[in-house]
Amino acid sequence: ADAPTPSITFVIVGGGIAGVTCAEQIASQFTSDEVYLLTASPLVKTVTNFKQVSKTLEEFDIEEQPSSVLEEKYPNLKVVQSAVKLLRAKEHLLQTENGQTFHYRKLCICSGARPKLLTQDNPHVLGIRDTDSAQEFQKRLSKAKRIVVIGNGGIALELVYEVEGCEVIWAIKDKAIGNTFFDAGAAQFLIPSLGADKKDRSLPCKRARYATDKTGGHSGASGELGSALGPDWHEGIELRGAVQNSSGVHVEYECAVDKLYTQQEFLQSKLNTNTSELGLWPAYVQLTNKKIYGCDFVVSATGVVPNTDPFLNGNNFKLAEDHGLRVDDHMRTSEQDVYAAGDVCTAGWEPSALWQQMRLWTQARQMGWYAARCMAADVQEEAIELDFCFELFSHITKFFNYKVVLLGKFNAQGLGQDHELLVRCTKGQEYVKVVLTGGRMVGAVLIGETDLEETFENLILNQMDLSRYGEELLNPNIDIEDYFD
Ligand code: FAD
Repeated sequence: ADAPTPSITFVIVGGGIAGVTCAEQIASQFTSDEVYLLTASPLVKTVTNFKQVSKTLEEFDIEEQPSSVLEEKYPNLKVVQSAVKLLRAKEHLLQTENGQTFHYRKLCICSGARPKLLTQDNPHVLGIRDTDSAQEFQKRLSKAKRIVVIGNGGIALELVYEVEGCEVIWAIKDKAIGNTFFDAGAAQFLIPSLGADKKDRSLPCKRARYATDKTGGHSGASGELGSALGPDWHEGIELRGAVQNSSGVHVEYECAVDKLYTQQEFLQSKLNTNTSELGLWPAYVQLTNKKIYGCDFVVSATGVVPNTDPFLNGNNFKLAEDHGLRVDDHMRTSEQDVYAAGDVCTAGWEPSALWQQMRLWTQARQMGWYAARCMAADVQEEAIELDFCFELFSHITKFFNYKVVLLGKFNAQGLGQDHELLVRCTKGQEYVKVVLTGGRMVGAVLIGETDLEETFENLILNQMDLSRYGEELLNPNIDIEDYFD
């Protein structure tokens, strides 16, 4: 390939994992080009201690760092701390809040997503997204006796588990907790942990650590534009309420919020007859199952909305149903020379049978990295194939202090009735679930120290016919690794 034309300007928007990974990759590949990273937040997120655990599973830590660290590492990378307020895609032009204008040849939008709030601008409703909102949550929690948590994804799951000294009413729309990640069986396995004594929870665990507010300049950031926290966002902030010995979590299944009342609204409503029973609270939540709870505040953790606002006006972006910027298998949006990666985008290509997009930090890193390679390939007029990481969905995390590994169609996503499940469960220790279709493994959930991830990953990737093994596949007395080696 020809050497890259000098002085092409690559612009990347967003200082989260996707944007930083993309910018680092481009900057290290095009050392004689200027690369600009425009970001609304004063700190950027960098990936450290990256470890490829197996073919597709990866682990890494995340550090929030001042942008100068990036500039020192890559002399051709300039970080501008100012939010983008305008994009004119046809003219290849961007404008930031501080009045600067940038002409780019290739642009990658990595502006992340923000929590979908139950209602906007209600002081009794909180979303958790970045360090600022997590700290606000902690502050409010320290005076709270009861909170209501809405949502059933990863954030809600961690939250209800971590909160101590405060009663938690957890309202979920599903029949089981953790529906985004688990089936009812896994939920059943995890439920006892909610009541368990949290004192024994400090098992060793290597996870991301956030260096919060090292620069002291955090408060200048607009709360809406901070970058998303990742795993262990609650690490280092004590999530303790105002009640001495209460860590009770009460789950309300299959319901949503019907109505929210401030104290005054509630007292004036005809529901008021209930107050003696319900007690006097700053806010009241009426659920669709007709139950009413008074609470100090509500945490809304019902998913995210991609941050596309400043980019849409006057441009012609194709949006996906979830409002993400739709990207093709080269991470290109529908606007020429505009790429997108991470939470802000929606994969618009025909996915592999074993992969699905989930707005997680592993995928943010992978997409940022792959988008950089696609931008580079396009500039150099080289061909590029969809990266191997999009072959198989894989995710390692921790829920309720258990190691959790999710592989492929771990929840039989999109398989309808056409699948079979094998489950092995030892209470308080491990939960193993395998999803099979036509005798081949297509997904797995591994909770606890099962040590099965590599073997299962291989079985899923090579699509070996496993029908003759039947339930033996999960027989704990058989060393499955020997079986297939
Ligand atoms: P972000 O990290 O959100 O970064 C977006 C960046 O864009 C920010 O720097 C922001 O300042 C900037 N920006 C936004 N708008 C503009 C603009 N107009 N101009 C300039 N800059 C802009 N994932 C997991 O895998 N495991 C977990 O356990 C987990 N837990 C989570 C817990 C919480 C509380 C939250 C909120 C998320 C969690 N996630 C988790 C999801 C994970 O954090 C995200 O998927 C990931 O951070 C997305 O990275 P990103 O780079 O796409 O976006």
